[in-house]
Amino acid sequence: MTLSNVHTGNVDPNEIDKFSALADRWWDTEGDFKPLHEINPLRLDFIDARVGLAGRRVLDVGCGGGILSEAMARRGANVTGIDLSEAALEAGRRHAEETGVELEYRWISVEQMAEEAPQRFDVVTCLEMLEHVPDPEAVVRACQRLVKPGGHLVLSTINRNPKAYALAILGAEYVLNLVPRGTHDYARFIRPSELARWCRDAGLTVCEQSGLTYQPLTRRFRLSATDVSVNYLMHCRKEAP
Ligand code: SAH
Repeated sequence: MTLSNVHTGNVDPNEIDKFSALADRWWDTEGDFKPLHEINPLRLDFIDARVGLAGRRVLDVGCGGGILSEAMARRGANVTGIDLSEAALEAGRRHAEETGVELEYRWISVEQMAEEAPQRFDVVTCLEMLEHVPDPEAVVRACQRLVKPGGHLVLSTINRNPKAYALAILGAEYVLNLVPRGTHDYARFIRPSELARWCRDAGLTVCEQSGLTYQPLTRRFRLSATDVSVNYLMHCRKEAP
């Protein structure tokens, strides 16, 4: 199969190529994905505190090489990771084999997964992926379909404002060299108000948002209840009928 026969077309092949080209770096904690490794414990704790991962059936959408997927599996969740970069999935499978973590990776679009397995998951996560997709609202709708009534959806992305441009693109890509140049496209950044509206329009209740802020002096990230000006997480629930 090739990308061209993924039926929805809600994918930018350049984005997939970009992530595939970096596939052997996913698990290098000092390499191109260092920021994802650094934020991982924070976002993992954020998710676990809200959903209680142990024993849950979890779908990780746009999982890449599985940095979050594996960590959730280690907390006792039954995790399926999906992505459209076969090379990233292969890196995830290899790493899980090396570390002995049990989880499944599949090359399938989120929209197709929603057709195949509606309301199948206690928890759906989709982190740092929406800002790489042509129609992110359609991804939110597909995620909503995949969640069981009473279940959870956790999203994360990057806000769209001058500060986010300065920090996420100029700062991270050009000054600090935290991520490769061209990783992000400002026009695809998403305001929390937009994301919250898409969630509500899809039939979800928005419970909480939290910022993930970078401290240039200490070079550390932390969660912030109030500062969603650049990176942020959003926790939603699908109410039980
Ligand atoms: N969610 C992971 C990886 C984020 S990187 C984490 O936070 O650790 C973004 C990932 O989104 C890449 O692996 C890329 O291949 C994937 N991606 C981009 N567009 C996609 C699409 N339309 N469908 C599925 N995955 C996509």
